[in-house]
Amino acid sequence: MTYVIAEPCISVKDASCVEVCPVDCIHPTADEPGHDEIKQLFIDPDECIDCDACVEACPVDAIFAEDQLPPQWRHYAQINADYYQQARR
Ligand code: SF4
Ligand code: SF4
Repeated sequence: MTYVIAEPCISVKDASCVEVCPVDCIHPTADEPGHDEIKQLFIDPDECIDCDACVEACPVDAIFAEDQLPPQWRHYAQINADYYQQARR
């Protein structure tokens, strides 16, 4: 499985989750290309170890285990994965 960042992150992007993630699988961080232009951060589904640390760290409750995404935000699983698919092309 993986964890997924959903809509509430948009325009917040405060990176509290980045600081607590033990495997650094949340991008783009503030010092990475594209950070300023992008609307939200994303979790790499291939790297996430489902540790749950980021959920409590997020001030706007934007992060969910994939199987616990609210119905209106289910498509964010694909949106997060797509970000990394494009980066690896
Ligand atoms: S669940 Fe753990 S490994 Fe996955 S993104 Fe959150 S902090 Fe990182
Ligand atoms: S802590 Fe929440 S709002 Fe902040 S960057 Fe991470 S997902 Fe977005």
